[in-house]
Amino acid sequence: YQGVYPVKSNQDRFVVEDIVKFGSSFRFGLEAGSKPELLLAMSCLCKGNPEALLVCNGFKDAEYISLALLARKLALKHVIVLEQEEEVDMVIDISQKLSVRPVIGVRAKLRTKHSGHFGSTSGEKGKFGLTTTQVLRVVKKLQDSGMLDCLQLLHFHIGSQIPSTALLSDGVGEAAQIYSELVRLGARMKVVDFGGGLGIDYNGSKSGDSDLSVPYGLQEYAHVVNAIRFVCDRKSVKHPVICSESGRAIVSHHSILIFEAICLTAPATHNEPINIPFIMEGLSEDACADYWNLRDTAMRTGDGAFWFYADQWKQRCVEQFKEGTLGIEQLASVDGLCEWVLKAIGASDPVHTYNINLSVFTSIPDLWGIDQLFPIVPIHKLDQRPGARGILSDLTCDSDGKINKF
Ligand SMILES: *Cc1c(COP(=O)(O)O)cnc(C)c1O
Repeated sequence: YQGVYPVKSNQDRFVVEDIVKFGSSFRFGLEAGSKPELLLAMSCLCKGNPEALLVCNGFKDAEYISLALLARKLALKHVIVLEQEEEVDMVIDISQKLSVRPVIGVRAKLRTKHSGHFGSTSGEKGKFGLTTTQVLRVVKKLQDSGMLDCLQLLHFHIGSQIPSTALLSDGVGEAAQIYSELVRLGARMKVVDFGGGLGIDYNGSKSGDSDLSVPYGLQEYAHVVNAIRFVCDRKSVKHPVICSESGRAIVSHHSILIFEAICLTAPATHNEPINIPFIMEGLSEDACADYWNLRDTAMRTGDGAFWFYADQWKQRCVEQFKEGTLGIEQLASVDGLCEWVLKAIGASDPVHTYNINLSVFTSIPDLWGIDQLFPIVPIHKLDQRPGARGILSDLTCDSDGKINKF
């Protein structure tokens, strides 16, 4: 086994440098998916284990390929993984010009498909990778250029948060067949790289029903080795080095953010005695009718229509207020009355707002952008029973800067 860390998962310099440093004794390498990532990975990996892999994925132009070939001159163990068929022509051409013998991989589009949110890049219609026909054409081209021995790695990526190990084994089994076929066709295969996808249990439910959790741990995930062994043994193919590109599984626990709730905004409360005749004095005929409807439904406890009538009544009163026909004390009493009734029928569910000293956009943009769940726990008052519902609201933005899913 020889893993690589996909730097896209977290490009923070200290994270990448630590992974290279502490991964060195495991010959742990890096994966890049673009030119900037490749530069970053090359500079960090110079301090890593000389055996560590530098896996070059993503769409490639001539510059990307030249850069990846230069990595070889820096004694880095690059693998240029072909994601599009045209890339093979560029690799053959540029490597001959630079007189560098490249190490080439192919990314296969598997038929195995992961249907979750993060699985859209898998399957035959996935964005990346070569179809079976294209893989065969690439093999032919390499053979014609006398470079079939350069083809040494098979790559595939089922998607992130793989929902079950059965799906993974299925994909790996399929890939192992392709691997064996490439061996049979004369490629000097050494590595199976099964991409990322080792899932994280963000919400603690240990279930595969959503993208927030997976029903397996590292131990079960590792059983996938069997799927490769089974195929290779049957085809008498030498066992490959297994490479994985786990991103989340490596870095999602790498940091915690400790922040302070600066103040609490409790739900507005009304303490004034409510004088109904005083309210009614100012109300239009329609608003009065709304009030009677509201009163009737409130008498029938548990009636969901109460919300509807309360809302309608309030709206009507606000309209009157805007027209100037209802006084501010009366409007406040309307709010107070609704609140009092809600409490009385047990339908009030006050939510506290904790103002927190951070910016959701800066510190946890994934929460806002892709609904990523971040486990959030209090770090004090742990001996007290939580009694109130709350949301966290950041200091920077009204509408999006809040956390209300835990
Ligand atoms: C995103 C990605 C990864 C990392 O995926 P995780 O689910 O974070 O493990 C690995 N390989 C490729 C090609 C990717 O696009």
